[in-house]
Amino acid sequence: MINWADYPNFTKAEFDCKETGKNEMQKRFVDVLQAIRTEFGKPMAISSGYRDQSHPAERNKSTPGAHTYGCAADVAVSGGDAQHLMYLAYKHGIRRIGVSQKGSGRFLHFDMAEHHGFPSPALWSY
Ligand SMILES: [Zn+2]
Repeated sequence: MINWADYPNFTKAEFDCKETGKNEMQKRFVDVLQAIRTEFGKPMAISSGYRDQSHPAERNKSTPGAHTYGCAADVAVSGGDAQHLMYLAYKHGIRRIGVSQKGSGRFLHFDMAEHHGFPSPALWSY
């Protein structure tokens, strides 16, 4: 279980599944995210954290994605901040990175799903 009071810059609510309200985030992932946030030194808006398998972004996938394991987050960020954040994520050991940097709603996806058999390193765009 996560003790959300351990994280000065994050709240449980911002990682709750937007479909079900469930939250099964993994401590080892949020620990890394907090380390990234501390070094970044600026707000990191979490646009998606935990997702139940019934979440619209997950329910049509053939196999559950990283967000359903509680070891993934999407961060709303763009431009130079996005480049800096990607560098910091890599520095802190994140080896699975998704990039959405076109149009509106730009974000970076970070996950540690290599612990669940997902390929690593991995880099993709949306
Ligand atoms: Zn994601």
